[in-house]
Amino acid sequence: MVDQARAVVIGGGIVGTSVAYHLTQLGWRDVVLLEQGSLSGGTTWHAAGLVGQLRSSSNLTRLIRYSVDLYSRLEAETGQSTGWKRCGSVSVARTVERMVQLKRNAAVAMAYDIEAHVIDVDEAARHYPAMRTEDLVGAVWIPGDGKANPADITQALARGARAGGARLLEGVAVTGVNIVRGAVAGVQTSNGPIATEIVVNCAGMWAREFGRLSGVTIPLHACEHMYIVTQPIAGIAPDLPVLRDPDGHIYVKEEVGGLLMGGFDPWAKPWGTERIPDGFSFQTLKEDWGKFEILMTNALERLPALETAEVRTFLNGPESFTPDNYFIMGEAPEVRRYYVGAGFCSGGIAAAGGAGRALAEWIVGDRPPMDLWPADIRRFAPLHGNRRFLRERVSEIVGVHYNIAFPNRELQSGRGLRRSPLHDRLRQRRASFGAKMGWERANWFAPEGVEPEPVYSFGRQNWFPYAAAEHRAVREAVAIFDQTSFSKLLLQGPDAEAVLQQLCANDVAVPPGRIVYTGMLNDRGGYESDLTVTRLREDAYLIVTGSAQSTRDLDWIRRQTPAGARVTLTDVTGAHAVLGLMGPRSRELLARVTDADLANAAFPFATSCEIPVGRAVARASRITYVGELGWELYVPVEQAAGVYDDLWQAGAALGLRDGGYYAIDSLRMEKAYRAWGRELTPDDTPWEAGLGFAVRLDKPGGFLGREALLQQRDQRSTKRLVTFVLEEAQAMPWGDEPILRDGRVVGTVTSAAFGHTLGRAVAMGYVRDEAGVDDRYVSAGAFALDVGGERVAARASLAAPYDPRAARVKS
Ligand SMILES: Cc1cc2nc3c(=O)[nH]c(=O)nc-3n(C[C@H](O)[C@H](O)[C@H](O)COP(=O)(O)OP(=O)(O)OC[C@H]3O[C@@H](n4cnc5c(N)ncnc54)[C@H](O)[C@@H]3O)c2cc1C
Repeated sequence: MVDQARAVVIGGGIVGTSVAYHLTQLGWRDVVLLEQGSLSGGTTWHAAGLVGQLRSSSNLTRLIRYSVDLYSRLEAETGQSTGWKRCGSVSVARTVERMVQLKRNAAVAMAYDIEAHVIDVDEAARHYPAMRTEDLVGAVWIPGDGKANPADITQALARGARAGGARLLEGVAVTGVNIVRGAVAGVQTSNGPIATEIVVNCAGMWAREFGRLSGVTIPLHACEHMYIVTQPIAGIAPDLPVLRDPDGHIYVKEEVGGLLMGGFDPWAKPWGTERIPDGFSFQTLKEDWGKFEILMTNALERLPALETAEVRTFLNGPESFTPDNYFIMGEAPEVRRYYVGAGFCSGGIAAAGGAGRALAEWIVGDRPPMDLWPADIRRFAPLHGNRRFLRERVSEIVGVHYNIAFPNRELQSGRGLRRSPLHDRLRQRRASFGAKMGWERANWFAPEGVEPEPVYSFGRQNWFPYAAAEHRAVREAVAIFDQTSFSKLLLQGPDAEAVLQQLCANDVAVPPGRIVYTGMLNDRGGYESDLTVTRLREDAYLIVTGSAQSTRDLDWIRRQTPAGARVTLTDVTGAHAVLGLMGPRSRELLARVTDADLANAAFPFATSCEIPVGRAVARASRITYVGELGWELYVPVEQAAGVYDDLWQAGAALGLRDGGYYAIDSLRMEKAYRAWGRELTPDDTPWEAGLGFAVRLDKPGGFLGREALLQQRDQRSTKRLVTFVLEEAQAMPWGDEPILRDGRVVGTVTSAAFGHTLGRAVAMGYVRDEAGVDDRYVSAGAFALDVGGERVAARASLAAPYDPRAARVKS
């Protein structure tokens, strides 16, 4: 047993061993991995071993592509086989809608440089002769996908880690983490303590409860996951591709001459809510043929050979799932140098190579190596750690793997965690709600006679005309939006200005009452956050950011605040409702409920002050996210319902409407307002994003990211955010579509929406070209978006497609 290590990895599954291996690859020899049972004995040993490369984000796809590369060369390096076989995969569609999704996936694959072919049913049958095809519409063939042996990969990674100097100890349970002044100081184990400044919690389905011991929220919960393996079947050879039939919820691969068939039950069985039994190693759960029936029925339809095949094994194993079906990695916001790599949602074999490398780089570099936001632990808040919520949610999330990924698809379970004080009123007004960061938010409002329920499709969805009416109300009259879910942080203290000046790229040393739009950048000049900062007093700022960003922004600001700075940071999100009043008649309406002077001279753009509104006092900030005249009213929650009623009473005659987030999205897209997490990520700088106007390179004392921006300013720009207006009125891009210039893929769409003022879909996305991207490059090219396999011509510009003041189409 050791008593000291540079890093301690907890858990000897495929993820923990991958982290240990990659730490040694980066030159760290003093690494200890502790496994309570035996290596791979948790979930890893019984995984089916499918490795599909395509994910919804380009960086997550990059991780898996790296896994594929690693698994194919690890044997040569370590002498231990990984069972990797590049057999390709066929995904089939039983419906037209599924085929649209497969075509969209194939288009995304092209943008990510993964070979993918949309194929007809005959060709699918040639790739997979054992399959019945009469009911199929088409398929996609990805030749680079494959399969591997999870336990063997784990052993190979372990061997590589040991060769690099790591010590991997089995039969040693970690019982706690020592924390001193908010940072890791060591671990307690069944064999005694180890001093270390870094722990990596790769404890699989144990990770949540283990995290709780240290106050770290890791929202995951195990579910039962089942497959069968048959005895050998004539004609089934090892090079048979992996088959995915998502409409039938099933996947199939060759296994020792027979077939392994498993899948994702639409409503899965949560397992181990209270606790995972002691000594659970190399164990399985009870066979449940009842639950497996839906998979079996579908598999029999697809593969006639299964009717007579003998089932050799029924395997039911637990795997952990997260509330949004993405895995969890990164440094926990609660404890410094406490890292997590867990919750792999049935994709841990495919992801482990890349995720292990990214986590090791994160640890060594003390920052994420690239934008990994979809998997970042800071996308959750403590409320997501609630067991009852998790139990409800994971039951649904398992099946989401094979749901058709319709745009804006909302989950049904685990809803209603956070409600604005206007919730019941908005429900009465027939709001259709969506959930973000636990908040119920109105997406659109249904008129009488229309159910406020979305009907999903890849084209115009049922809410299209109602969101269009809300959109028009903002452009022509006035609409009211409940934006209570905004994250709101209060930074107070004598050093508040100094701290924020260092963190913000714009100049926030403004007089009280001014609002500053700014980015918070990392040392690469990339966006850690995009926000407005309102100076309330000499020593107090209100920081307002997106709904999903509260944990992340709190973490970033705390982390970057110098020790000893005299400031306090408080999350006041729940204290204030936000009512957005937007549109050309917003001044007229507000004037009916306040005696404050709202004239331009008295209340200019980007200013904020407390004013009476009806019978309440609210902070009114003259700023909107839609490019029209308007105010955000910050109202104490207990007065919000009264203010809403008063505004409605005063505004009905002015054409006031309730508006939802779908209208906001289409309005902001026309005005090319960027969104954090889409157009603005840690990998994008203000120059690339076209937001140089919100950067003050010359402000005294500089700011974090300034050096990188200075350097980039002097270089040719090879990446720029470009706006697009589609030529075809019916085309509906939703995001992630490849962008083509003169027929060549030059980027992907970050956001898209239908612009109801323009009568066309509008999109934004980064265009990359080593030769340089500037105005001339944009205007000289013929641009198109690949929308579900169709190339739709688009007018491209570096400017916003719509300028409300000029009320004309620019591009
Ligand atoms: C039936 C089934 C089929 C699957 N098929 C696929 C597939 O085809 N493709 C794919 O990509 N993924 C698949 N998966 C998912 C994949 O198996 C998992 O995502 C992956 O194995 C997770 O690895 P891990 O290292 O995070 O967890 P684990 O393998 O569970 O490792 C965690 C380890 O931590 C140890 N541990 C926990 N607490 C402590 C402690 N306090 N001290 C010391 N050690 C501790 C445990 O003993 C355990 O060994 C499947 C899963 C199942 C159940």
